[in-house]
Amino acid sequence: MASTLVTGASGFIAQQLVLDLLEQGHSVRGTVRSAAKGEALKTALAQHSARASEIELVPADLESDVGWADAADGIEVIHHLASPFPLAAPKDPDELIRPARDGALRVLRAAKSAGVDRVVLTSSGAAIAYGVRGALPERFDERDWTDTTYTPDCRPYIASKTIAERAAWDYVAGEGRGIQLTAVNPVAVLGPIRSAQVKTSVDIIARMLDGRLPLLPNAGIQVVDVRDVSAAHIAAMNDPASIGERYIVADDYLWLREMAAVLREAFPERKKIPSRGMPDLVVRALALVSGDVRTIASELHKRRMLSSGKVRKLLGRDLIAAPEAIRASARTLIQYGAV
Ligand code: NDP
Repeated sequence: MASTLVTGASGFIAQQLVLDLLEQGHSVRGTVRSAAKGEALKTALAQHSARASEIELVPADLESDVGWADAADGIEVIHHLASPFPLAAPKDPDELIRPARDGALRVLRAAKSAGVDRVVLTSSGAAIAYGVRGALPERFDERDWTDTTYTPDCRPYIASKTIAERAAWDYVAGEGRGIQLTAVNPVAVLGPIRSAQVKTSVDIIARMLDGRLPLLPNAGIQVVDVRDVSAAHIAAMNDPASIGERYIVADDYLWLREMAAVLREAFPERKKIPSRGMPDLVVRALALVSGDVRTIASELHKRRMLSSGKVRKLLGRDLIAAPEAIRASARTLIQYGAV
């Protein structure tokens, strides 16, 4: 059993990973940004695990050196998940890039100083499949990297994840030699939420359920279940063959209309789930006044598909199907009264 550190323990994916690590007998320390977040996290986790009280929480912010040495002390494996993932893009991309990149480096430097030689980093499909000039390939794979210089196809969050992952690989190839790094690159993560605090990832499902998305643009996302992202982190930590590798974690691509159809079928009593399309012209007009819609407008008719054969081999099984991930998000959003 390993002593593990999960950074950003209050996050959506991290909550699942903490529960799975505890369930499998590992000891878990987590970083949080504030004591209040730590208390809320413990309360949330206690609903799911009898071992929740054993998690040790350490305050640390990606933008400060304070706390990281204590966080890494005595740890065998670090799972680095903390990174800003806001609902709306900031005007200045550096607001995301700086904490993502400098935070990853802070965590790796703390690992090096504390003699922790195993780190599994949650990067993203965003670091693989964007910044594309021209037509998209049929499928991206782990050899692909987002081109952050082509900003029309590389929004600030995408840049932050790409630059942070690159910085991590560069660090372990140089100053941080000896640290064994694996990157886990999920696409859009859905699946069950473990507390009502979860926001960005499941926002699209919440909007469909509560009527905030009344019409469906001709866009879509490739989906993966949070339980598989957590499983990939743990499989990577347990398998030395994963050292130095990247793993896309992705099930199917679904158009928004297909996602809404899954929800309508599973939750017929929810009358606000949209069924009608939003004409491209309307999406493009709304994009002029709304940053949110601008993101969708830039994805109209683009089927960005990432290949996931490598992670299926690592896990030795298939992934949870995208429709089940969608239903699980919806079920739990309803259960927590978030919609
Ligand atoms: P959440 O927003 O739920 O979690 C992000 C975590 O990072 C939170 O714990 C947050 O803390 C923490 N964090 C943010 N900024 C800072 C900071 N300055 N200092 C310390 N901690 C910080 O997102 P997810 O769980 O969805 O994402 C987890 C990881 O997975 C991220 O690296 C994200 O980029 C990546 N990812 C997510 C995908 C998705 O669809 N969800 C897809 C691909 C990758 P706090 O609670 O205090 O805000």
